[in-house]
Amino acid sequence: MRASERLRGLNGDGDDGWGLFYRARQMVAAGEKVLELTIGEHDIPTEQSILDVLHRAASSGDTGYAPVPGMDALRDAVVARAARVTGAQIVRENVLITPGGQAGLFSAHAAVLDPGDVGLHIDPFYATYPGTIRGVSGVPVAVEARASDGFQPKAEDLDQAAASHKARSLLINTPNNPTGAVYSEQTLQGIAEVAQARDLWVISDEVYDSQIWHGRHLSPLTLPGMAERTLVIGSMSKSHAMTGSRLGWVIGPADLIAAMIDLATTTTYGVPGYIQQAGLFGLGQGAEIEARVGAPFQRRRNLMMRLLDGQNVLSVVPADGAMYVMLDVSGTGLSGADFAERLLDEEGIAVMPGASFGAAARSHIRVAMTLEDQAFEDAMGRLIAFATAQVHATA
Ligand code: PMP
Repeated sequence: MRASERLRGLNGDGDDGWGLFYRARQMVAAGEKVLELTIGEHDIPTEQSILDVLHRAASSGDTGYAPVPGMDALRDAVVARAARVTGAQIVRENVLITPGGQAGLFSAHAAVLDPGDVGLHIDPFYATYPGTIRGVSGVPVAVEARASDGFQPKAEDLDQAAASHKARSLLINTPNNPTGAVYSEQTLQGIAEVAQARDLWVISDEVYDSQIWHGRHLSPLTLPGMAERTLVIGSMSKSHAMTGSRLGWVIGPADLIAAMIDLATTTTYGVPGYIQQAGLFGLGQGAEIEARVGAPFQRRRNLMMRLLDGQNVLSVVPADGAMYVMLDVSGTGLSGADFAERLLDEEGIAVMPGASFGAAARSHIRVAMTLEDQAFEDAMGRLIAFATAQVHATA
């Protein structure tokens, strides 16, 4: 007996690009000292006030099945947050509560792709994207965003890919993991024009919308003619340091959300009530808690920019948002992958090779700013010294 073709093909052919991450984890398990700057996990736990609500809700009996679309009050809180963050005018029927953004990405693609349909996504990309599209029997096609364009996708590239593959959907992510790009108004206008001209659904992953260090977060949902063809993916993982609680949402047209509620009934059967209560409390804290949770990444991003100012081997484009920085290491003469392997072996510092996120980032490494400030500064100092030494070694 064997698994379905869909599941056997989930990761595509070959390397999933996470070899270095697993090697670093093995080194840690073997007792070696490794500074891990690999994945997007905060270095702080969920705030106690949120955990108190979670605990109280569970202890006082909210342990049964919860409403599958999400509690009315929580859906309404997502409506209010959308108005605050992007100015989107939506109602409760536009919101489905999901077990995290990842489940939202899956159900959004399930809602718009038929088997064999092409779903576009941007390269560099968050690691799960192609697998999510394959998981609903879609066909992922990557459209490159170039470092020389600040990793902003170009409308003509999207248009060409949409036309030649007869694509049904386009998955975008702003603020972006792994690049730190925040899409400009011009980029989003271009996306909106292509989506309307080529009749595409736009799935807009906005799970980092609270982490903007430069510029402004814009959602395609608010552009003229886009509400009927846009699905926004949101999550409390990054904004409220609630990665383990698995709480997110999809915003979209009411009829599509109704169909996705049917899908949720046959897959997740919703999100536990005590988690939803905790999320409702968290959203009720407004922008303040989101700024507090995001502040360490902004501090470390600024620290990183200061450290990089004093050298000319590594360059950064663009680090405008999210908890990562992409560094171009081509000035060292090494590929991103070789740089990352050697940095791990010689300095005990683990970063992700850019190639883990697609071909467009192969001369980069991605640094997750997830160590406390002093340790992060020390690690970056060593990383920059290592990069500089490579140039001298080859000079
Ligand atoms: N989208 C992006 C771009 C991410 O980086 C992540 C998590 N690292 C997710 C979605 C999924 O997040 P979650 O399921 O925890 O909400």
